[in-house]
Amino acid sequence: MTTLTELEGSLGPVARGPIIGSEVRGGPDTIAVVDPATEEVVAEVAGADVDTAVTAVDTAELALAPWSARSPRERSDVLRRAYDLMISRCEALARLIVLENGKALPDARAEIRYAAEFFRWYSEEAVRLTGEITTAPAGTNRIMVLHKPIGVALLITPWNFPAAMATRKIGPALAAGCTVVLKPASETPLTALALGRLLAEAGAPPGVVNVVPSRRSGAVASRLLDDPRVRKISFTGSTEVGRDLLAHAARAIVNSGMELGGNAPFLVFGDADLDSAVAGAMVAKLRNGGSACTAANRFIVDESIADDFAARLAQAMSTLTVGPGMDPGTDIGPLVNSKTREKVSRLVDDALAAGAKALVGAEAPPRRGFYYLPTVLAAVPRGAHILGEEIFGPVAPITTFADTDEAVALANATDYGLVSYVYTGDLRNGLRVGERLDSGMVGINRPVVSDPAAPFGGTKQSGLGREGGHEGMLEYTETQYLAVDW
Ligand code: NAP
Repeated sequence: MTTLTELEGSLGPVARGPIIGSEVRGGPDTIAVVDPATEEVVAEVAGADVDTAVTAVDTAELALAPWSARSPRERSDVLRRAYDLMISRCEALARLIVLENGKALPDARAEIRYAAEFFRWYSEEAVRLTGEITTAPAGTNRIMVLHKPIGVALLITPWNFPAAMATRKIGPALAAGCTVVLKPASETPLTALALGRLLAEAGAPPGVVNVVPSRRSGAVASRLLDDPRVRKISFTGSTEVGRDLLAHAARAIVNSGMELGGNAPFLVFGDADLDSAVAGAMVAKLRNGGSACTAANRFIVDESIADDFAARLAQAMSTLTVGPGMDPGTDIGPLVNSKTREKVSRLVDDALAAGAKALVGAEAPPRRGFYYLPTVLAAVPRGAHILGEEIFGPVAPITTFADTDEAVALANATDYGLVSYVYTGDLRNGLRVGERLDSGMVGINRPVVSDPAAPFGGTKQSGLGREGGHEGMLEYTETQYLAVDW
């Protein structure tokens, strides 16, 4: 199963245009979906204009009252069936991701399992949304607190996790009783469209989940944020776009959740188990081929072990197989497009010009597809751009620290604050350092923090709000307090 037609044998037909209610619409634009491994067009999808996007809001608004009036158990059952369907179609959905995103098949399978877990987790949370009742301090009345569905939610997602970034929003939104308009990234509309159909099969009534691919993201988002029926925007993507959306949402006073860029430090202390630190570095760096907001972006290593760590990491990286994501045995697939590869290449060249040493990789192989070789750069000077920008590719820049204060200062010297990683042989050191790190999440001797049951999100310019966990569902509710005299 490698072509879209073959995949549709398992998935059912994948819409080639906006899904609004139970209809698949056309649109004035064509979105050509390109396989990053071959640079060939694998499908063409109709892109919505602003008017079509507004009809998606009309439809979501009509579906809102009946959906929020369904019992929590009914909403839970829909999400649970969606989880079951995703798991039963894991292989075909994973291959669909590979087709349009390029990542290696094991990464895509892991993404589908992770993505499905948001449906399972929120099927469980849907029936556990509690309120609160207290007595006012004066003793005059009771304070009753309810969490009501916030309303129609606009969800905008990136290409790097085309399934998981969508389910991480749709799961809690539907559990809370909201209806949604999902705008997927133009590189990867097919996965979102397949999820739209799957949710309908799972029993989501028409209009509850609308999927609107569009090349006119800016115009669509602006128009929808000005629509008073849209009460929530949840965006995952770059900090630059998030900033503009926030400014717009501020004018319209729309509740905003922002999951933005990262620049994760990966600290390795002198007492760390080096085998475990290198194995962790491989995962934290290379999950999704390095195209992850949580990817370790700066390796900050105790100077007493930095050479050893760098040599071992380079050795591990040199054993990886780079190739089409669909091929068995591929560890690292291509990057999503030429623009992303050019950025990676520019950052590496800049670091080399500034004095860094390439231990492995540092080039794009001469073949078709948007490939870049796994790369380790040692002795990266402090001012190099690669330490300040999100790389989004399989490149590990290494710099050093002399003591804990310097390690923490270097780790926090960024505008981002999504995640940090700490490797140390002393858990007390890990916990102390973890608390001093200014990021929403810290992995201590662990290279993966993503978990549907945990609050995922960042500080500083990595965003606002949390997804996952109990917190993730509250993001789709409005808190109401009733002052009750009885
Ligand atoms: P992006 O360029 O910001 O695009 C993300 C989404 O926003 C896409 O659907 C895109 O649509 C849309 N978009 C672009 N311009 C827009 C505008 N002016 N108004 C409204 N929507 C607009 O980001 P990306 O390159 O796809 O994704 C990579 C970024 O996402 C990285 O910075 C990464 O760190 C971040 N990310 C963060 C998290 C997290 O949880 N914090 C998770 C994953 C990724 P088009 O594709 O049609 O332009």
